[in-house]
This record gives sequence, C-alpha cells and structure tokens, in this order.
Amino acid sequence: MRILFSIIFLVQIIALAVCGFYARKSHKEIAPSVRKLLRYLIPPVIGNLIIVASGNKLISTVGCYIYFIGMDFVILALLLFTFSYCRLSWPSRKLRYFVLAVLTIDVGQLLLNPFFHHAFRTEAILVDGYNYYRLIPYAGQTFHRVVVYAIYLSAVIIFIFKTFRSSRINSERYSVILFVMLFTGIIQTFYIFSRAPIDVSMIGYGLFGILVFYFSLYYRPLRLMDRMLAGIAAEMNEALFLFDSNNRCIWANKPGIEMAGLKSNDFDEAEEKLSNLFSQYADKKDDWTTTQISGSGKDAKHYVLEKHAVKDDRDRFIGSFLSVRDITEQQNALEEEKYIARHDSLTDLYTREYLYDRMKNTLEKNPATLYYVIFADIREFKIINDIFGNEFGDFVLLNIADWIRNTFTQSDAVFGRLAGDTFGILLPKEKFDPEVVENSLSSFVVRKGNASHSVLVHLGVYEVNEPDIKISVMFDRAHMALSSIRDQYKTHIAYYDDNMREKVLWNQHISSQLHNAIKERQLQPYLQPIVDQNGTIVGAEALVRWIHPTDGFLSPAMFVPVFENNGMISEVDQYMWQCACEILARWEKEGIDRFISINISPKDFYFMDVAEVIKNLAKQYSISPGKLRIEITETVMMADINTRMSLLHDLKQNGFYVEIDDFGSGYSSLNMLKDMPVDLLKIDMAFLSKSNNEQKAEKIIHNIINMSYDLGISPLSEGVETETQYHMLSQMGCQLFQGYYFAKPMSVTDFETYCRQNSGCTAK
Ligand code: C2E
Ligand code: MG
Ligand code: MG
Repeated sequence: MRILFSIIFLVQIIALAVCGFYARKSHKEIAPSVRKLLRYLIPPVIGNLIIVASGNKLISTVGCYIYFIGMDFVILALLLFTFSYCRLSWPSRKLRYFVLAVLTIDVGQLLLNPFFHHAFRTEAILVDGYNYYRLIPYAGQTFHRVVVYAIYLSAVIIFIFKTFRSSRINSERYSVILFVMLFTGIIQTFYIFSRAPIDVSMIGYGLFGILVFYFSLYYRPLRLMDRMLAGIAAEMNEALFLFDSNNRCIWANKPGIEMAGLKSNDFDEAEEKLSNLFSQYADKKDDWTTTQISGSGKDAKHYVLEKHAVKDDRDRFIGSFLSVRDITEQQNALEEEKYIARHDSLTDLYTREYLYDRMKNTLEKNPATLYYVIFADIREFKIINDIFGNEFGDFVLLNIADWIRNTFTQSDAVFGRLAGDTFGILLPKEKFDPEVVENSLSSFVVRKGNASHSVLVHLGVYEVNEPDIKISVMFDRAHMALSSIRDQYKTHIAYYDDNMREKVLWNQHISSQLHNAIKERQLQPYLQPIVDQNGTIVGAEALVRWIHPTDGFLSPAMFVPVFENNGMISEVDQYMWQCACEILARWEKEGIDRFISINISPKDFYFMDVAEVIKNLAKQYSISPGKLRIEITETVMMADINTRMSLLHDLKQNGFYVEIDDFGSGYSSLNMLKDMPVDLLKIDMAFLSKSNNEQKAEKIIHNIINMSYDLGISPLSEGVETETQYHMLSQMGCQLFQGYYFAKPMSVTDFETYCRQNSGCTAK
C-alpha cells in the first residue's frame, strides 16, 4: 500500500510538473491561472507523499503541515481558475479581501498549531505491520476544513450554474470540470469521515489538475465544432454538396437541394442533376474551380463551382465537397459598372478609352482588311452652344451620335465619342461610301422646338496603312486631314495623305527653329526695287528670306503661311521692320534718298499694337516716317474695321505712308477704299495673267488707275514681268512699278551694288 501510493503520488507530482511546463508554452488567456493551480497542487501531493512514505511521526507531521497549508493555496488557485475559466470576475473587492483574509488567518492558525496544538495531532496506527500517522482533528482543523469547503463549494456552485445555463453543446466544457471537482470532493469527504490513514482524495486532486490542464488548454470541443459546422453548412447561402470517397452524394444543404431539384434526404440523383445543370461539372477527385453561365440574355445565371477534396489526418482521401455560389447579382453589377465606364453618359457611344481598345482589337483580329479611321468634328460647336444654349448643344451631339449609329452600324464599324464635339469611327474601307456620307452631311439640320440650326460636320479620313501605330496617332492623322478643309462648307470629307504629315512635320521643324534663326540672322530682308516711269529706283520692298543652314534658301511661301497660322509671324515682322529701319538709318547717313516698304500681316494685329511698335522703331532709328512705307492687305480691314481705320489714321498722321498691297488679287472692296486713309495702291498684275479675257482685264486696270488718282491715291503696278506690260501701264498713267521686268528681290548688298551700277539708281 505504502509503496503503491508513494509511486502514485510521485507520478502525480511529475505529471503536474510536466503539465505546468507545457502550460507555460500556451498563450491562452486562461494559461496563467492554470499554471498557478498546477504549481499550487504540487506541495499538498508532496505533503501526502511524505505522510505515506515516512513512517516517522515528526516527518509525517511536517507532511501534514505542507498538505494543509498547501491546500489553502490550492483552494485560492481553484477559485481564481474558476473565475477565469467561467469568464467571471470577483463580485466585489470586499469579498476578495475577505477570502484572502480568511485564508491568511487559516494559514496563520495552522502554523501556530505546534505551540497550541489546537488544530490537530497525529497518532500512529499499525496497518499491515507499518506505522501510519493518522490525524486527530481539533477546532483549528475544523476551521481549516470549513474554509476550504466553503471556497470549494463556491467553485462547484459556479460550475453547476455554468453547466446548466450554457447551451447543451457548450455545457460540456463545464460539466467535465464539475464532474472531476465533485468526484475529488466526495473522496475527500470520504477520507475525512473514514479517518483512513492515507488521503486517497489527493489522487483526485492530482487528476483534477491534469484534467484542468487538458480541458482548459488543449481540449477542442469536436462535438461542438461538428454541430456548428453542420449548422453553418445548412444555413449557408451557397449550395453545398458532400460526397463520400466513392463520389456519391451523401448530403446537400437546403439551397443545394433546391438548386438541384432533389427530394430532401434523397441524394442519389444529385450527380445526374448536377451534370445536367452544369455542363462543366466534372467528376474529378482533385480540387477545381470553375465559373459557369446557365441560361442566356437577361435570364442568364452566373455560378462559381468549387470542388475540394477532404483528407484525414494521414492525408487519405475521405470524400469531397462541392460548393455552388450564385454570383449573378455581382456579375450584373460588374457588367453595369463596366458599361458605365465604357459608354459616354450623354450619347451612349463608347468612351475614347474603350473605343481605342475596341479599335486595337479589331485591327489585330483582321490584319487582312483595309480600314479607315475617321475623325468627325462639328464645326463651330462652341458658337452653337453660345447662341442656343448647352441643352441644344447636347441635342446636336445626340443627333450626330444617332447619325453615326445609323450610317455606320451596318458596316462592321466601331465608333465612339472622342471628346466634346469630336467622334471617332473605324470601319472597313470598302464599307465607306463617300457619296452617301457627303449627301447626308450636305444638309445636316438639327431642329428642336423653334430652334433649328444647320450643322457643319467634317470628317477627316486616315486609311490605316500602318496598323501598328498607336490609335491616337491614327486619329491625329485623320485630324490633320480635317484641317485641310477647315473653312470649307461644301466639302465634308478630307483624306489624309503623307504630304500632310510632311507638312505638319515641316511646320513643327521650322517653328521650333524660328527664334534661334532670328537671333542668328538666318532670316534676312531681300529688297526688290520699286521704280518710277523713267525706270529710276525710288525705293524697295523688303521681303523676307530664310537662309537656312541645312535646308538652304527658303522663300516666304515656305514659312510665312505657317507662321501666320500659329501667330509667330509677328516675331518675323517685328524683326523685318527693325532690319528695314537699320537699312534706312544707314542710307540716310550715306545721303541715299530711298524708301522701304514693309509687309504687315493681318495676324500681327492680334499680337501687338502695330502702330505703336512702328512709331517706336522709327523713333529709335531716327528715321523720317515718310521713308518707311507700310503695306497692308485688304483682309486687315475685314475684322474690327473701326479700330483698324483709326490705326491707319494714327500712322498716317505720324507721317508714315500707308499702302494697300495685292489690290485686285483677292477680295477687293472699292467701297471700303474710299474711306481708307491710304497713300498708295499696289495693283497686282497676277490679276492680268489669271484673266481669260485680257482686254477686259486691261480695262479694269485702267479704271482702277484712274479711280485711284480720283481718290488721291497713287497707283503702283506690282508683278510687272514684261516690257509690254510696262509700256501699257505707263500709257495708262501708272508712275510706279515693281516686278521681275526690272529686278527680282535681292540681298541688301546686291541691291546697293545694283543701284550703283544702274547709274544713279536707274533701272532698265
Ligand atoms: P507681296 O507682299 O505681294 O510681295 C510681292 C511678291 O511678289 C514677292 O514674293 C515678290 O518676289 C513677288 N514678285 C515681285 N515681282 C514679281 C513678278 O514680276 N512676277 C512674279 N510672279 N512675282 C513677283 P515673295 O518675296 O515670295 O513674297 C511673297 C509674299 O510673302 C509677299 O507678297 C508677302 O505677302 C509675303 N511676305 C514676304 N515677306 C514678308 C514679310 O516680311 N512679312 C510678311 N508678313 N509677309 C511677307
Ligand atoms: Mg508686299
Ligand atoms: Mg504684293
């Protein structure tokens, strides 16, 4: 007996120590209170081991002290563990202090027992020839037992309460502990009343510690988990089917039963029904996921099917499950979102980004087809918006969008809105019928209520002969074509050709160099003599030339229109006027009496105060204003006539000569001429050469000459190329001439040499 119990206690001590060691590794919230309980359980077991094993009165008595005092600590640890396990806290601070005080008193009174012998005494009894020391309890021991029992019973009551108040599944974790506690308590009670020499209840305590360790830190309530998982699976929105290792359906949740149309609890047909429902459903054991659409159009349903194998601890296949998730709603929302992102909210056409994507795809998929990329633009859309309001503007856009839809839908075309008032179309070249398109665009009228407006739509067409370039570049090219019919009302379609690209590149090339060219004096004034009726050179017209370091000699026709378009002409002109002033200043110093006519572009007026700049230059170079003559064309007067008139008056009042250039070559308004403060009229002889009826043209020139004298304006014939012309014009009374017949424009040095050689500035 003695040896058996000694071994049992020893094993328990070791087991508690081992559990304590493993409890240290746990990070669970309850771990500290479990560790404390395990630690405190060891001394009482040691106490009992001593009592059982010693056979000596004194040592047995020491064992009793370790046992009893140790039990005070155990009972405290038990209470703390109970609170932690049941997730409770002390009901009040006072109670906590009271319990601690009572336990302290108990420990104290037990420690005083050697002096007062009020708690217990041990007596020897002989069992099987061995001396055991049995306890004879007194009042102190009774107090100790009351304390210990009271706390023990409190813990038991808490566990009973928890066991019966929790759900059936959860109560398991409480009932196990409660059972062990009751078991230990009963044995303990039995020991007390039986007064047996060995406290068997200690085995219960040891066992209790180990069970607490297991249930608190390692126990996973499998039954609870099973029930919960089953509940979750049954309640899930997605359909779930479970299969055994032979792939036979053994269970399906409610959505699964409904989806497959099964009779509840009869899963035999599940396989067949699933195969009918989902064509991609395959009988595979491996894990797989697939999406499946069933039905079509608006009734289409989207599903995600997932089949997963289930394996046991040893990685053996024990079955599988299939989940079917209906994602129709998300899919529809996604489609809607995509639609919104890809379509213009006003016209419902593709947005630019999506159009580019679609065009790229179409071109890639059909490398053998020749395509047209069309850039459609509403001319002066801003004016439509300003005059009729944005609502009507939107209506115009909708009309154009409809027109594009109606015209191109049948032609395998892809189209969309590029931005504001521009649209893009891609269609096979052979499907584009320019005649039909021209016809429908020639009378494009948008009507809304009382407002109606004829809308000019221009199409720039790029034939995709380089399908690998970016879509945006294709549209740039189509747009380039469009610019070539900018001001035309009768033509609506313009085709891109490589010359246009060359032109744009050329424009960019020279525009980027102009600033530097002026600085380096690559731009030079050439002078073309102006002579009187005797052929004497009286002055010259300054005409710009660009002596380009790599492109050679550039005539104004190659760059003046470009700079007139982008406004850089004002830089050229200011520079030319300055050059003219420099020359005049030098001539004045050298005593040469000649004038220089400078050209003024209509665009100059947008970028500077022309009169102010010219006056300042004349002042800066101290030039008598009469020597600097100003050539303007009639187009200058087309815009803002009053301001321009006063500007001419200003110049004239300041002594400058004002000349009308190219009279007769463009739009001539005789009516305007009578009010214009001009000194000289340059009659363009191109008028003569262009005419079919020379006699009539001559009559007109004659009359213009006469009329200009009548208005007090001197006439000058420019572009005189032949002697006949010269004689004829002289006879008509013209006294000033300019033209190749006399001399071509030449550099300033050449001009000066030419003047010297022609005996005192006389030409011909
Ligand atoms: P424009 O002002 O009417 O200048 C006369 C143009 O006629 C010059 O051409 C001149 O070379 C050309 N010409 C002169 N006599 C004859 C002739 O007998 N027959 C023919 N067929 N042509 C003749 P150019 O120098 O090529 O200049 C062309 C135009 O460029 C000028 O016409 C003027 O409008 C513009 N331009 C030239 N230089 C400047 C400038 O510095 N500033 C501005 N804004 N425009 C300029
Ligand atoms: Mg001129
Ligand atoms: Mg001219």
